[in-house]
Amino acid sequence: MSGLTLREAIVAAGRDMNRLGINHGTCGNISARDGETMLITPSGIPYDDAQPEMIARMPLEGAAGAFEGPLPPSSEWRFHLDILRARNDVNAVVHAHSIYATTLSALRRDIPAVHYMIAIFGVNTIRCADYASFGTAELSERAVASLGQGHGVLLANHGMIVTGATLAQAMWRAVELEALAKTYYLASLAGPPVVLSDDEIARTIERFGSYGLRSTPGR
Ligand code: 13P
Ligand code: ZN
Repeated sequence: MSGLTLREAIVAAGRDMNRLGINHGTCGNISARDGETMLITPSGIPYDDAQPEMIARMPLEGAAGAFEGPLPPSSEWRFHLDILRARNDVNAVVHAHSIYATTLSALRRDIPAVHYMIAIFGVNTIRCADYASFGTAELSERAVASLGQGHGVLLANHGMIVTGATLAQAMWRAVELEALAKTYYLASLAGPPVVLSDDEIARTIERFGSYGLRSTPGR
C-alpha cells in the first residue's frame, strides 16, 4: 500500500473505531509500519477532523521521539514504536478505550478462554499489563511484555492494544477483543464462566491459521 493510501486507511480506521463503539472522543490511537518508518495518528485530534496529511511519520530506528508532520504524534508513540520494533509479524497497532476491555482493566483481570475466538489473538489468555501513566516508557515496557507473542493486551485502568499483520486485521481484533471482554464480564456476573482448555485453544489456533482476515492481503 502506498504512503498516502496507508494514511487514508489510518484516518478511516480512526473514524471506524468510534463508529463501531469500541472507542470514543479523541481517545485511542493507530499506527502502521511504512518501510523503515511508522505512520501514527496525531495527538488529541478528533477523528472526524483528521486528514491524511496530519498523520505523523516517525523513524523506527534512531532518535526516539523524532517525527515529521504538521502535528505532534500520539502521546502513545512509544508503545506503538516499541511493538513494531519488537514484532516483525506486526505491521499495525490499534489502541482503544473500549468500555468492557477498560472495565476489566480497571479490575486488573486477565481474560481467560471464555470463548474460542480468543484463538485469533494466538494465545489462551489476554493479559492485563500493570498500570503506568499514559505516554510513558514504563507503560510501553509493560505493554510489550504482557503482549508477548500474542495480538492483544489490556492496559490497567486504561484500555486495550491489539496488533495485526495489516491494519484491517488489527481492527478486526479490536472488535473481537471488546466482544470477548464483554462476554467475560457478563458471564462473570451470572457465575464463574467455564474456561476452555489449553489443548482446545491450541487446536483452535492451528485451525485459525487459514481463517478470516488472517489471510487478507494489503493493509
Ligand atoms: P493521543 O490523542 O495523544 O493519541 O492520546 C489518546 C490516548 O488514548 C492516550 O492513551
Ligand atoms: Zn489511551
